[in-house]
Amino acid sequence: VSARLIDGKAIATKIRTQAAEKLASQRSRGRTVCLAAVMLGDDPTAATYARSQAKDAESIGLNYRLVQLPATADAGQVTSMIDTLNRDASVHGIILQMPVPKGLDAFELQQRIAPEKDVEGVCAANLGMLAMGRARWAPCTAAAAFECLRETGINPAGKRAVVVGRSNIVGKPLAMLLINAHATVTVCHTRTANLAKETRRAEILVAAAGSAGLIGAEHVAPGAIVIDVGIHRVKVRDAAGVESTKTVGDVRIDEVAPIASHLTPVPGGVGPVTVAMLLANTVAAAAAI
Ligand code: NAP
Repeated sequence: VSARLIDGKAIATKIRTQAAEKLASQRSRGRTVCLAAVMLGDDPTAATYARSQAKDAESIGLNYRLVQLPATADAGQVTSMIDTLNRDASVHGIILQMPVPKGLDAFELQQRIAPEKDVEGVCAANLGMLAMGRARWAPCTAAAAFECLRETGINPAGKRAVVVGRSNIVGKPLAMLLINAHATVTVCHTRTANLAKETRRAEILVAAAGSAGLIGAEHVAPGAIVIDVGIHRVKVRDAAGVESTKTVGDVRIDEVAPIASHLTPVPGGVGPVTVAMLLANTVAAAAAI
């Protein structure tokens, strides 16, 4: 028996369609929704993200405003720009493009974003609300992993869930989403004494360690739902010795697919849902303002 693959692209399409419908309904009432992205300097990765976000947002009728500041901007200039966007009634969501130039503290800058416009869900107030089970929305990647789980139709209530990773944007918020959904949650990290022993108990296993191929057959119980959050570009060599690059996750899919009941592929699993989740969070933010 091979695991059913969870189709992230299809989930993303559904989320986008729903967001587009809500935006159309806002427009019919004379309201345009806008996502503002603050970009510091001209880092090529940040610029690529911004271009793809703009295209994505505009494809569903969401305005995208790129606010660029020079790499030499100091913390005062950036916070003053964020304050301006916080006050701007035509802006409903604000994100800070990563990476930020050296010398600036991304965490501190993100905390400056008004919680009701923090559509990445990264400010302390929003993570606190999530911990208390009263979240406006969750950080995009954690929310995307949870959507992939929901798509299986299996209720997490009463299930043993194990999350590998405890970062503030993925592991911790995902653990909170699972707790709020009444799962019994274990969070693993680099100090976990015996990772495989913990993960083998999981009925729901989320791999968010950022370590290519970390999770193999020895980590997975038969019938587990496995959500792979990892994204890595790795070099591979074919039988003829020709080298190419390939996108892989934290899970060794060939080993885990025969054991798990459901599995998110990489690429095509959590990744596309994460991108769609930013749009959905912005639409939710606009509806709440
Ligand atoms: P991160 O900040 O580096 O956190 C990784 C976490 O995994 C840490 O808590 C770390 O433990 C733990 N960990 C690392 N190696 C481990 C090991 N061998 N055993 C057990 N735990 C281990 O990464 P992140 O930002 O949460 O991202 C995680 C992964 O998701 C990355 O591959 C990233 O590329 C991917 N990602 C995907 C999307 C998407 O759209 N699908 C979006 C964002 C990120 P310690 O706390 O002890 O160090």
